[in-house]
Amino acid sequence: MKCGLVAADGAVLHRETRPTPRADARDGGRAVLDALLETVVELSQKATAEGHHVRAIGVVVPGVIDAEHGTVGAENLEWTGTPVLAELKAAVGDGVPIVLAHDVRAGGYAELRHGALAGTTNSMFLPLGTGIAAAMIVDGSLVSGDGYAGELGHSKFIHGDAAELCACGQWGCLETVASAAALARRYAARTGRTVDGAREVMELLAAGDPDAAQVWHDALAALIDALVLYTTLVAPTRIAIGGGLVGAGETLLQPLREGVHARLTFQREPEIVAAVLGEEAGMLGAAQMAWDRAAADEEDRG
Ligand SMILES: [Zn+2]
Repeated sequence: MKCGLVAADGAVLHRETRPTPRADARDGGRAVLDALLETVVELSQKATAEGHHVRAIGVVVPGVIDAEHGTVGAENLEWTGTPVLAELKAAVGDGVPIVLAHDVRAGGYAELRHGALAGTTNSMFLPLGTGIAAAMIVDGSLVSGDGYAGELGHSKFIHGDAAELCACGQWGCLETVASAAALARRYAARTGRTVDGAREVMELLAAGDPDAAQVWHDALAALIDALVLYTTLVAPTRIAIGGGLVGAGETLLQPLREGVHARLTFQREPEIVAAVLGEEAGMLGAAQMAWDRAAADEEDRG
């Protein structure tokens, strides 16, 4: 869990990372929720003790968020219709507005407001990490689709015998070949050698390892398909790639640009750039959304 205290101007006054309890343990979902509540309460107390006034709280989580009911379904947190917003309100008490949002959409929002997507009205933030999800900015708005939008990672781009089973239950999803986790898993499956994450696959790629090259090629091909599809559907002017894989820099970005360029005919070609806010994007987006809520509430009160 990445968390912090963020001032109105975006300055990070305090930042920390806390371990997320294992969700697969007994009552793991409850343990994750308890850890979240404890973090929010302790950070609020810290802010107050240091003379700050907590104006709003932003919490971002993975999964499907029902904004109307404040519930979250997130398989890897063992949450099913979990009343996260109600629990947060009970823990914090009345008087402090709480925003509950999706982690990747919050990251995209931060990139839109202060990062690689600043100035765009049609764009996408696509972090390639353990999983893949997209934050879609369409005609100036961050699209949430009632909590369901942006699951580009669970679109099928691998067909036939090459398709692997995805955590979502479908076969051949983008996430099964192009996430950082998939690179490591697929390299290990091909070679029988366990590797220390995507980073090691990238090192092997640079050293000329043919299996690393094949795994990388498969990831790029699926990513290019995904970017072309997104470009054709919603015509972004800029796509910011984030997550662990963007550490590969131009080794990733240049073939994506070339691959997308070669496939477009009439479509508007997007710039493909690296996201700039790194691992803090979600936290910064949560804070930005919280400040927006505080400002809106103030306006309502006149
Ligand atoms: Zn999937």
